[in-house]
Amino acid sequence: MTETGRIILLSGPSGVGKDTLLDIVFKLRPSLVHSVSVTTRAKRDHEVHGKDYYFISFDEFERMRSDGEVLEFNKYGENYYATPKKPVDKLLSEGKDVVLKIDVNGTLNIKKLYKDNCISIFIMPPSLEELKQRLIGRGTETNEQVIQRLEIAVDELKKSSEYDYRVVNDNLEKAAAEIVAILDKK
Ligand code: ADP
Ligand code: 5GP
Repeated sequence: MTETGRIILLSGPSGVGKDTLLDIVFKLRPSLVHSVSVTTRAKRDHEVHGKDYYFISFDEFERMRSDGEVLEFNKYGENYYATPKKPVDKLLSEGKDVVLKIDVNGTLNIKKLYKDNCISIFIMPPSLEELKQRLIGRGTETNEQVIQRLEIAVDELKKSSEYDYRVVNDNLEKAAAEIVAILDKK
């Protein structure tokens, strides 16, 4: 019988470098799979539907939620984000380690459901000023949204102690190597 895979919860404030780090980590550990969330937010230019997110309407989100098709959901800014249940359970049953790039609330909800089968990692910015520069530099949010994301970040950083591991994303390669070392540990 195949052993059940693990859930890898990766969180950190918007703009800290989660996607950039995951690109490297997935190359270093190609057996990892990414759970694709659904979101009601607009697609960014470089994003691909079905790879980065499933971009759905609010009505479709509501339907999925009321039909019990999501493991957890969260409102972030003006938009909703959720983890679809079926694909995660299928991948776990195939013995695959599944990466969920979700926020702090989502992580706590998933931990309640999957308990010891989770590893949680919080990505920290070197400083709030550097986080602001990365958000501005990415150029995907309006000034207003950058300010809102920084405000949310302050709250999220306070909850980083809930995580099994904290990794500072200062030097990209070093942070990616730290994540891989955590995943290889058990
Ligand atoms: P997130 O997925 O956490 O929202 P991104 O991966 O989109 O963040 O990264 C936000 C911006 O920060 C991008 O422009 C990315 O190139 C940049 N970035 C990520 N990691 C680093 C790093 N270690 N040093 C400098 N810039 C970085
Ligand atoms: P972004 O708009 O920058 O892609 O994501 C905003 C926030 O939503 C990030 O903190 C991201 O980790 C979180 N997020 C993305 N998908 C999910 C999800 O399915 N569930 C939860 N709870 N948060 C998510």
